[in-house]
Amino acid sequence: MTTTRIIGAFARYALAHILFGKPVSPFPGHSLARIGLLSIGLLSFAMPLMAAAATDDEKQFAYGVVERNATAMAKIGDSLYYFAELGMQEFESTKLMKEVLEAGGFTVELGAAGMPTNLWAHWGSGRPAIAIVTEIDALPEGSQTPMELARKPLVAGAPGHMEGHNTHGGLAAAAAFAVKETMTRYSIPGSVILSLGPAEEQLISRPYIVRAGYFKNVDAIIYLHIGDQSATGYGLANYASISANFAFHGKTAHGAVDPWDAKDALDAVELMDAGAAYLRQQLHPTYRMHRVITNGGVQPNVIPDLAEAWWWVRDANMPDAKETFEKLVNVGKGAALMTGTSVDYHIVAAGWPQLGMKAIAEAIQGNIDKVGMPRWSEEEQRFARELQKSAGRPEVGLKTAVTPLGGRPQSYASNDNGDVSWSVPAGLLAFPSIVPGIAHP
Ligand SMILES: [Zn+2]
Repeated sequence: MTTTRIIGAFARYALAHILFGKPVSPFPGHSLARIGLLSIGLLSFAMPLMAAAATDDEKQFAYGVVERNATAMAKIGDSLYYFAELGMQEFESTKLMKEVLEAGGFTVELGAAGMPTNLWAHWGSGRPAIAIVTEIDALPEGSQTPMELARKPLVAGAPGHMEGHNTHGGLAAAAAFAVKETMTRYSIPGSVILSLGPAEEQLISRPYIVRAGYFKNVDAIIYLHIGDQSATGYGLANYASISANFAFHGKTAHGAVDPWDAKDALDAVELMDAGAAYLRQQLHPTYRMHRVITNGGVQPNVIPDLAEAWWWVRDANMPDAKETFEKLVNVGKGAALMTGTSVDYHIVAAGWPQLGMKAIAEAIQGNIDKVGMPRWSEEEQRFARELQKSAGRPEVGLKTAVTPLGGRPQSYASNDNGDVSWSVPAGLLAFPSIVPGIAHP
């Protein structure tokens, strides 16, 4: 019952319109003005209260806390956008989040489970302990000027928030704060946790956080992610993924003088590629397999004695992904045999599909239906249609209706949060801040 009441606050995220907050100037550092703005918002929640129908009153109270912090939420989103830090390097981003959460009364641990940018924030005591779980890392070479339709990096070659993880921090912090304030006001027992795991884009941190025991005393999690719709779901929500680096070791020689003395490691990478291409016909129709060559040698007359490829194998469930990965390993061994090289591989990361629990999904859906979609302005709709046109997508604008339960199919993307959801009952919440057709949810 308490779980359901706490979840009530989360669906309100949708009203933040984070991506459409007015563009602001890049912040050169941690300005006190920025932190101050949030603090004022956090401290000014005093609101006349009306007795009666408990649950609805609690929700209205929580909505009020979120509304009063809407500007601060958008500012955090903008700040994270400009920090644009890659996974495991979210130093400025987590520093800001730590300050914000401490200002809101949370106890914050940075460096949990041995990862310097892993943030674990806690408020309250005892059960139920509900954790909001999300991430704030950027992607390589994604730098982009806000509100520009054409590709225009802020800093050429720099990382950027192509996917929208910059929106996660403000939403999660405001939601956690709203729940905390509501629990305080209405004497609801329990704990609120906010977990910002590093390097979601590389699917790395969550298995370590689970293994370190952080979720042992957590009763349920709510995982949030930006999307183009307001939706939840249960069962398998996305794909399993295995990420691995294959390194081929050969023997170098001059490409013209004595190439017969060489064992070309790049040849092995190419043959592994060809072998994997033949393998594709014998895989489950649900599989995904993709790669980049991260080391292909230095220059043509130096036959490479080291070449590397980074592979990702995915499938609708982990056993099938493992089966495909084992076949890929054999292809790599075959390529090494053909070229006289040797191969070793190491798993970079792996994650199970997210598993959503039906009871939590039903509770979240009830609140999604209650809150509804944001009331997009005509300006926002026009911007969305222009963006869709510039990308050659159908000019359908922004979604105006919530997604019914069961209306969101299993996604082909992956998230290391899946490992948490197999350890703790999990609810999933996508909030609408992406223009449909532009980016993957
Ligand atoms: Zn993501």
